[in-house]
Amino acid sequence: MQDLIIVGGGASGLFGAVQAVYKGLSVTVFEKEKKVGKKLAITGKGRCNITNIGDNKTVMDNILRNSKFLYSSLAGFSTADTISFFENLGVPLKTERGGRVFPQSDKASDVVSALENAIKQAGGKIVFQKVSGLIVENSKCLGVVTADGKKHFANNVMIATGGMSYPKTGSTGDGYKFAQTVGHNIVEPLPSLVPITTVQRDFENAVEFTLKNIKLSLLKNNKTIYSELGEITFVKDGLGGALSLTASGYIDPNSCSDYQIIIDLKPALDEKKLDTRICRDFKNFSNMEFSQVLRKLVPKEILPMILKRSGIAYNKPVNQITAEQRANLVNILKHLKFDAKALHSINEAIVTRGGVNLKEIDPKTCKSKLCENLYFCGEVLDIDATTGGYNLQIAFCTANSAIKAMCGW
Ligand SMILES: Cc1cc2nc3c(=O)[nH]c(=O)nc-3n(C[C@H](O)[C@H](O)[C@H](O)COP(=O)(O)OP(=O)(O)OC[C@H]3O[C@@H](n4cnc5c(N)ncnc54)[C@H](O)[C@@H]3O)c2cc1C
Repeated sequence: MQDLIIVGGGASGLFGAVQAVYKGLSVTVFEKEKKVGKKLAITGKGRCNITNIGDNKTVMDNILRNSKFLYSSLAGFSTADTISFFENLGVPLKTERGGRVFPQSDKASDVVSALENAIKQAGGKIVFQKVSGLIVENSKCLGVVTADGKKHFANNVMIATGGMSYPKTGSTGDGYKFAQTVGHNIVEPLPSLVPITTVQRDFENAVEFTLKNIKLSLLKNNKTIYSELGEITFVKDGLGGALSLTASGYIDPNSCSDYQIIIDLKPALDEKKLDTRICRDFKNFSNMEFSQVLRKLVPKEILPMILKRSGIAYNKPVNQITAEQRANLVNILKHLKFDAKALHSINEAIVTRGGVNLKEIDPKTCKSKLCENLYFCGEVLDIDATTGGYNLQIAFCTANSAIKAMCGW
């Protein structure tokens, strides 16, 4: 009988398989897609933000929910360990803005190939078959059943089936069903790191336009819960781009109306300095129409939105604009407000929030507390993080904990 069956040849499963074969375990990975690592291959816009150089505290700070669960796994396999692991595997890495680590080649496919080759070279097997169920007797997992009805036995089974986002990559929530068959509870899978649909849609001209060097603040019931400098992209029905995706991670999809997004279009200037700048422009171009002067302050794509929100006629000569109207304009430029209406669907989400209830999983080993010999790793668990390489770090370090436990390190 083999030592280990891994269900899912994604980030967590492939990584776990390499660790296991290097420790001398006999391993079979079952992958239901025609190739392994389909999601891994599209991470980081095809460049794979594999981890972050941040220390354990930084990683914990970037975990959106249930960070405490990761404490042991991260202590056992830090971001520095991820970097050494992949460099030793022949994938040289580089660090970019925000401590984000990428392959030097800028190719996520290099990461997938390195993992796949390492498994095969060390004698591990990859079988392209869908797993349809677990073989369980007396609360002990004995193996898996594949879609062709065949039974496969192993001393240990690791579920690394991912979450429910980007289902075309193979993550369709099968792991939740397996978990439920042995009595686990599933925290409702919901989208995280996804565009935000807004109530206001007065940015039609700016659709697919990216605004850089702005500050986005997310407010819940008027209290700021997230704020960062960066970029947003206007999408058909709301806000996408890096900052909006991260902000979405803090939004409870079941109560979106509690949240507001405030964009500061001029984060380098406080209100007084911005007013001084506008006064100067109004003085220098006193006979010009408002829209022409405003164009000097904002990109043309968002000009119609700002004009409309200011309530000032586009052709009003700026020397006729009142102090009150100017104060309102400053307020709009510093606090461009959008009310959240919904989050885009889980199909578009970078990660799934929710998953296998962590109260039923041992954090040191990622082993089921309900079923012997059964482990859960990666996104199938109810833990998720912001962007920056942290979600892959979760996938790697949880798999590491499971393999460590199986080998009795
Ligand atoms: C567009 C995009 C970009 C991203 N970029 C980044 C990034 O740059 N950095 C980062 O840290 N995170 C990123 N993420 C998140 C990251 O990719 C995931 O968190 C990570 O891949 C989760 O790993 P996993 O192994 O748990 O699941 P997955 O990588 O989803 O792998 C699960 C595997 O299990 C297989 N499977 C499922 N059910 C079965 C079954 N019944 N039988 C057999 N096989 C099965 C699936 O086909 C799949 O191959 C990104 C996600 C997306 C969608």
